[in-house]
Amino acid sequence: MRGGVARHPRSCQGIGKCQDSGSVPPLFPTGSDGRAIACVEAVNIDSEMSVRIGRRRRRSRWLIAAGVAGLAVAGAIANWPPLGGRAKGARLRRLRKSPEWQGSHFENPQPIVNDNWAAIVSLFQTDPNVSPHSPPNVVMVEPGRFASQPPSGLRVTWLGHSTILLEIDGHRFLMDPVWSGRAAPTTFVGPKRWFPPLLALRDLPPLDAVVLSHDHYDHLDYATIVALKDRISTFVAPLGVGAHLERWGVPAAKIVELDWWESRAFGNLTLWATPARHASGRVLLVDDDKKLWTGYAFLGPRHRVYYSGDTGLFPGLQTIGDRLGPFDLTMIEIGQYDQAWPDWHLGPEQAVEAHRRVRGAVMLPVHWGLFALASHGWTEPIERLLVQARTSGAVVITPRPGQSVEPTVERPQERWWPALPWRTSAENPIVAHHVD
Ligand SMILES: [Zn+2]
Ligand SMILES: [Zn+2]
Repeated sequence: MRGGVARHPRSCQGIGKCQDSGSVPPLFPTGSDGRAIACVEAVNIDSEMSVRIGRRRRRSRWLIAAGVAGLAVAGAIANWPPLGGRAKGARLRRLRKSPEWQGSHFENPQPIVNDNWAAIVSLFQTDPNVSPHSPPNVVMVEPGRFASQPPSGLRVTWLGHSTILLEIDGHRFLMDPVWSGRAAPTTFVGPKRWFPPLLALRDLPPLDAVVLSHDHYDHLDYATIVALKDRISTFVAPLGVGAHLERWGVPAAKIVELDWWESRAFGNLTLWATPARHASGRVLLVDDDKKLWTGYAFLGPRHRVYYSGDTGLFPGLQTIGDRLGPFDLTMIEIGQYDQAWPDWHLGPEQAVEAHRRVRGAVMLPVHWGLFALASHGWTEPIERLLVQARTSGAVVITPRPGQSVEPTVERPQERWWPALPWRTSAENPIVAHHVD
């Protein structure tokens, strides 16, 4: 009401005053009852306006309250630790000098091409066997297994998806460790793992380093990093990913960030970061591609091992093979692909091609067997891989999750997964763009 009054002549400063006023200004003619007509109208208008203004004010207050609440929620989400941190200071200055940095983000030399409509359609065509209906046939890892070095000098223990314990020429590395129940920033929503971790974190043997390929949730797990940050001396990661690690309490001195074709020595072994064709980001549309993604090559005095990280097929794989190969063992991603986004992941047939390009001897297929991150059946990647390997003569090992293998002396090829229907490469081809 106060606002309404202020907009009217001084003699009309409220209904009561106006009704008994005998001193109406000339501008306000009086009626037969002596009341100022204009004033009565003005009072009615004043009253309506006041109601309207009151409504408007209440609405404004609600909007402000909603805005403040929204900002508070957005702030809380932005500060949610699993989402990670932003590169700043020296870290930001360094990544901006990378040849892959293009103004505001990292880019692949060969652009990633998506069919967005087909991607949406694919969401509604999930295979009925996208996840196992009963727990997969896995092996619990007894910690004593790592008490002594592998006689051959090379042993690999696949723990599901892309979590791998690699022992090579007296060194030990843990790749993309995910111990959480979900590949997600929450404990209640997101792709759920199909079996519990096969080894307690406290039972991990001494490691030279934790090696991270990129910051997607199925590779960089907040809870695992927090649990390991005091026990592990070195975390190797691509450019920018150190910002997440530091945000989670990993001391800066423990973080080694590498650009493609940069390396770090661990005694007599050299670890190289190798190009990959992929993407990064933990908050959709907010930090897309602000951190780099990479593969790795481990060059020991006796053995060489290649890990693809996440990648689509790209010409640089040949260069990796020429410069750093041949490899005794390749650990190459084969699952979580889709026809609609064929440049993000290799798919089984192109994984065999990647193995050939980097000059691999024995291939361990990874990035399958733990999470459903695409629409295909959970056994489709391995079934198709084996068909392609037979055709091309590639040597593939298929250890159960948790089984350790010395790939230069043993080649387990047990079909430990169930026989389920799956689509062939002709029925569901994964063919990347710009591969040569
Ligand atoms: Zn990824
Ligand atoms: Zn992945």
